[in-house]
Amino acid sequence: MLTNEYLQRVYAQCEKRNGGESEFLQAVREVLESLEPLMEKHPEYESAGLLERLVEPERFVQFRVPWVDDSGKIQVNRGYRVQFNSAIGPYKGGLRLHPSVNASVIKFLGFEQTFKNSLTGLPMGGGKGGSDFDPKGKSDMEIMRFCQSFMTELYRHIGQFTDVPAGDIGVGAREVGYLFGQYKRLRNEYSGVLTGKGLSYGGSLARTEATGYGLCYFTQEALRCMRDDSFEGKTVVISGSGNVAQFACQKAQQLGGKVVAMSDSSGYVYDPAGIDLELMLDVKGARRARISVYAEERPGAVYTPGCSGIWSIPCDIALPCATQNEINEESAKLLVKNGCTVVCEGANMPSTPEAIEVYLANNVLYGPAKAANAGGVATSGLEMSQNSLRLSWTFEEVDARLQEIMKNIFHNAENAAKECGKPGNLMVGANVAGFLKVADAMLSQGVV
Ligand code: NDP
Repeated sequence: MLTNEYLQRVYAQCEKRNGGESEFLQAVREVLESLEPLMEKHPEYESAGLLERLVEPERFVQFRVPWVDDSGKIQVNRGYRVQFNSAIGPYKGGLRLHPSVNASVIKFLGFEQTFKNSLTGLPMGGGKGGSDFDPKGKSDMEIMRFCQSFMTELYRHIGQFTDVPAGDIGVGAREVGYLFGQYKRLRNEYSGVLTGKGLSYGGSLARTEATGYGLCYFTQEALRCMRDDSFEGKTVVISGSGNVAQFACQKAQQLGGKVVAMSDSSGYVYDPAGIDLELMLDVKGARRARISVYAEERPGAVYTPGCSGIWSIPCDIALPCATQNEINEESAKLLVKNGCTVVCEGANMPSTPEAIEVYLANNVLYGPAKAANAGGVATSGLEMSQNSLRLSWTFEEVDARLQEIMKNIFHNAENAAKECGKPGNLMVGANVAGFLKVADAMLSQGVV
């Protein structure tokens, strides 16, 4: 509930301007609600029109992406890039290729990214982009032609000191390679304009693993400090089976957890003996097959069609790593009923506001996406540093920095929550800690 009059006015205006953009409004509302405790102490935010500016992207680009499929037919997709906030650094945030991508999804992701990037402690502003292109079932050549066409427009809006995109849903090493190649060709310039690059052309070791590993480092630190506990011996359920889910699974297993279920957009597998990650990586990575194939090849594993059923599997720790709003109130209640005491988010905004209320009402240790999945972009920041220095750090060096960053993010969120009078509420803590740095920079830079 928004009670502060200024926050109410900012939200009402945002709602009027962005009518129907439900994901974006959901993300804005959550942040504004978290800022309530700050409002009395900071009248300067209102006099500087700070929040009106914060919820309005600095720039939003939408463009046509025409490409030719393997049968010679012309296809047209819609491309986007939102450059949300550059107060603390160049815009930074991934590109998503998925049929559900629209202006609302891109704006929610770009808005969230602003606070997440601030939380990492690195100098990165918030941005996000993508297209409603569906990479599923496309040949390598179709993916390449799409990526080249997408970059043929995007290149004029980005640059190593302006805006540095990366991967997200549907954009992995293959896509980043094609995008980078086209940027280099168009600009005749070799720069660190994208992160998540291959190791042979400027990528960072541990970037592929970073979001999933970072999620587990954050969860481990939260468990240690808030529950005097760890992953050791815990049953873990992870939704998704893409980049974030795969490496969350690997690290959770290394830390002593038993991962018993994973999913894709068609259904989920339950493997009571514990997920065989080598097989999972072969099925979902190398073969780009459906997750049902895992159950066909793994004795004892069961496949069930439909995604949301995965939350009915009893677990101690749930790590949603697929997509937005994948846990609703009903699923959250089911998780709690079956004994789940920890939910940390690898995906962006995977829990609906009603689900979050269920976590908070039931003393679930809730690690919000902005904080818990910031390891990916933090390591992208480390990739940018290595590119600028013309150096490559070892896996161990990058991983050590990632662990340090995730611990700091947890402690900053926990401390901010305490200072706001909401001890233990990491959602409020992450929103406030991320916001304060951006707000300070915006105030210093005048009305821009
Ligand atoms: P991938 O494309 O590698 O994997 C996405 C996974 O989620 C796939 O298993 C996919 O299933 C599943 N999925 C996608 N859409 C849906 C849907 N509508 N319903 C159910 N399942 C779905 O993406 P990532 O692993 O990179 O991203 C996953 C989440 O993590 C996203 O929310 C992303 O924004 C977030 N994230 C990613 C970061 C990164 O570094 N990559 C950084 C921070 C956050 P299928 O195989 O059927 O498509």
